[in-house]
Amino acid sequence: MPVKFLTADKLQIFIDRLLASSTVFSPSNQPGNVIRYTQANKPEDICIDYVNSDISPKELFFPQTEELFSFDQTDEGIDLRVQTGYKPKVIFGMRACDVKALLTLDPVFNSQWPDPHYAKNRNETIIICLACDKALSTCFCNTFGIDPVAPEGADLVLISYGSGYIIEECSYTGRELRELYQDLLTQEYVHLEKIKEEKRKQLSEQFVHHVSPSKAKETMDNNFELPYWDEISRKCLGCGICTYVCPTCHCFDIFDYAPEETTGSRCRCWDSCMYGDFTKMAGGHNPRPTKKERVRNRFMHKIKYHLDRYGIEGCVGCGRCIVKCPVNMDITSIITDLGEVK
Ligand code: SF4
Ligand code: SF4
Repeated sequence: MPVKFLTADKLQIFIDRLLASSTVFSPSNQPGNVIRYTQANKPEDICIDYVNSDISPKELFFPQTEELFSFDQTDEGIDLRVQTGYKPKVIFGMRACDVKALLTLDPVFNSQWPDPHYAKNRNETIIICLACDKALSTCFCNTFGIDPVAPEGADLVLISYGSGYIIEECSYTGRELRELYQDLLTQEYVHLEKIKEEKRKQLSEQFVHHVSPSKAKETMDNNFELPYWDEISRKCLGCGICTYVCPTCHCFDIFDYAPEETTGSRCRCWDSCMYGDFTKMAGGHNPRPTKKERVRNRFMHKIKYHLDRYGIEGCVGCGRCIVKCPVNMDITSIITDLGEVK
C-alpha cells in the first residue's frame, strides 16, 4: 500500500520547520544523562535515540508545581486572577506507553468536571509519536495491550523503516499537520501491516516480563487483607520516587503561597500516597497508618481501583518505578505473586 515516507535527511528540515512554527517539547539529554521532556529551541536539543525517558512527559500536562490562581487584597475586596498563560504546543517523540498514560489521566482530570488547567494543556497539544524499535528489560507495556508501534492517542506517528520514517496520521489534527509537510514526503509502496508485525515480533522477543494483571486483579477483588502486603512493604522506604516518575500517578496537594500579607497565589504540587501523612486527617486519624496500607493502596490503585472506576488500568508498563526504586520493588513480581495466590 502507498505510505507517506520521510527520508532521514529530510527529518532535519521537518524538525526545523516544526520549531519555526510551533512551541515544541521533546525528549532531551539533560545533565547526568537524564532524558526528560524540555522545550526544544534547535534541532540538536531533540533526542530521538532513546528508548524510554527517565522523567515522563506527564509534567507537560500536570506540572510538578503549578499556580492555579493568584490573589490580591484591595480596598474593594479580593481580586482573583486565574492563570491563563497556556500556549498550544507540539510534543515530538513520545512513546506509546506515555500516550496511553494520558488516556489514563483523562478520566481523572478531563471528563465530567474538567480541571481547566489540565484540560487546556491536553486539548491544545499535538502529539507526534516515535514507534518503538527497542524495549528495555523493564518495559512491559504489552501486558496492558499497548501497541508500541501503533500508539493509541497519538496524532502522528513516525515509524523507522529503511532509510527514513513512515509517517502515519492517526487523527484529523495529524492529517492537517502532515499536509503542511507534504512537500518533504515521498510515496513508497510497502506492506505497512507486515512492517509493523515484524517490529512487534522483534519487540516481543525483547520483553522480559510476561505477567497477567487480570489474575492479580482477581486476587485483589477477593482479598483485601493478605499477609503478602506485610512482607512486601517491609523493605519500602516511603521515598515516593515510584510515584514521581510514574506517568499515571496523579496525587496532588494544594497550598497557598503569600510572600506578602495582601498578595499571594494558590498552587498545586505533586504529592505521593507513599508518604506517611498523605491520608492523615485534621483530627489526627490516618486510615493508612503503616507502609503495609500504603504499598497495598499503590498497587491496588494501579491494577484494580483505576480499572474499576474508569475502565482503564492505572499502569502502562513503562517500568520507570522498577528502574528508580532504591530497594528494587518490582511491580511485575507483585503482579505475578498476586496472580499465584490461591
Ligand atoms: S506503576 Fe510503574 S510501570 Fe506502571 S506506569 Fe507507573 S511507573 Fe510505569
Ligand atoms: S520507590 Fe520503592 S522505596 Fe520508594 S516509595 Fe516507591 S516502593 Fe517504596
